[in-house]
Amino acid sequence: MTRIPEMEQPSLPPSLWAATAEPAPALESLQGAIRADVLIVGGGYTGLSAALHLAEAGRDVVLLDAGEPGWGASGRNGGQVIPGLKDDPDALEQRLGKKAGARLVETVGGAADEVFALIREHGIACDAVQEGWIQPAHTDAALVTATARARQWEERGVPIRLLSADEVHARIGCSPIYRGGWLDPRGGTVQPLSYARGLAKAALKQGAQLFRQSRVQGLETDGSGWKARTAEGSVRADSVILATNGYSDGLWPGLSRSVVPVFSQQLATRPLPEDLRDRVLKGGVSASDTRRLLWYFRLDRDGRLLMGGRGTMDRPGLDQGAPLLQALHRLFPDTRDIDPEFVWAGRVAMTADHLPHLHVLDRQVFAGLGFNGRGVAMATVMGRLLAQLANGAGPESLPFPVTPLKPIPFHGFRGAAVRAMVQYYRFLDARDARRHGG
Ligand SMILES: Cc1cc2nc3c(=O)[nH]c(=O)nc-3n(C[C@H](O)[C@H](O)[C@H](O)COP(=O)(O)OP(=O)(O)OC[C@H]3O[C@@H](n4cnc5c(N)ncnc54)[C@H](O)[C@@H]3O)c2cc1C
Repeated sequence: MTRIPEMEQPSLPPSLWAATAEPAPALESLQGAIRADVLIVGGGYTGLSAALHLAEAGRDVVLLDAGEPGWGASGRNGGQVIPGLKDDPDALEQRLGKKAGARLVETVGGAADEVFALIREHGIACDAVQEGWIQPAHTDAALVTATARARQWEERGVPIRLLSADEVHARIGCSPIYRGGWLDPRGGTVQPLSYARGLAKAALKQGAQLFRQSRVQGLETDGSGWKARTAEGSVRADSVILATNGYSDGLWPGLSRSVVPVFSQQLATRPLPEDLRDRVLKGGVSASDTRRLLWYFRLDRDGRLLMGGRGTMDRPGLDQGAPLLQALHRLFPDTRDIDPEFVWAGRVAMTADHLPHLHVLDRQVFAGLGFNGRGVAMATVMGRLLAQLANGAGPESLPFPVTPLKPIPFHGFRGAAVRAMVQYYRFLDARDARRHGG
């Protein structure tokens, strides 16, 4: 359909995850012409989960990634497995109506459990820990909102815990800057690149064919199906799933313009000394706060403290972790003498309505993207839903709304708009911090 210029084939960018992940599966690039029932473009959690579910259903699946499985956001994220979406359960039910909303809430509420169940089922080695996720509130107003959110989950049977400010600081082991918060026991952490590689290995085991360094450069109709071209090969398939999220290129008209890719940056310290490790993020809990440009933090399996933050339109340089380091030192003053060991960044795909989007783009062409920084659990679920569509399920049978593709107006000006928004949010977060000591 669209011919895009051949691009440099990317190698895996350096990060904590790249340095400590399970080995990648041995894959080759696509050479020559092959056939499949379903072609999947993109090897992050969305594409890999779709490949695994389709292969388990006995379909002949080919997955192509421009880099390798986990090359995109799936190999670089914070590894926090968080159930739910940005919208609270009541808001989702208001948006979609009681019945459809309740189905969606059940699906997204179960997303983290689905990830951990998949990990257990396929024996994926990825340092999976399901010890809960804390959302600490940075202002009194944010605490009111967070408490209402927690209560809504509680009304739906989730054994959440509301935490006083003292409890938050004791569990996180941080400076007393939060007003309180809540703990969601469904949340947890994974080594994100190992999780992606584990999904890839599970899909291979079920018979899927995966190729690395195989950017799809063009997609066109071919009789009753589709034909995708790479630099050195082609795939004919009855159905196509586009799972390219924040790394979408011009392959499908309008797809990359339906999301705004914003960089999120992370740093990881050297492993904390034992005494500090005992005090910080006790019991393997992880956290992301309520700031507009949120801070998120966790430990890795070796006791490194990771801190991440949003968000700029421009790729941050590796020497530009300074603001994040300042935030880390403010939050965890005892880390002042511990050097950061890794700094890296990746693209978060934001949508205008803050919801992920599921599309039927054409006859047997499907896409799922726009996880707004909450994709470890949700992209895994989205992959399953895409697999169901490609396997013949009707859109109305899914617990997730299928919506038309809507490119964001004035997308060309997104750089300036996001920069202005980030400056404004930074100002508001700094103002809140001055007022509340956060
Ligand atoms: C720094 C950072 C921190 C984050 N932290 C968290 C977190 O703690 N918790 C959470 O829930 N979420 C987090 N997220 C979000 C989460 O990582 C994503 O939502 C999720 O990984 C999206 O998965 P995906 O498969 O849809 O996309 P991706 O993993 O980005 O995969 C897309 C793939 O498509 C491939 N591709 C693109 N175009 C083509 C083409 N033409 N041909 C072939 N291949 C192509 C790319 O190579 C890429 O591998 C974070 C994201 C970032 C960047």
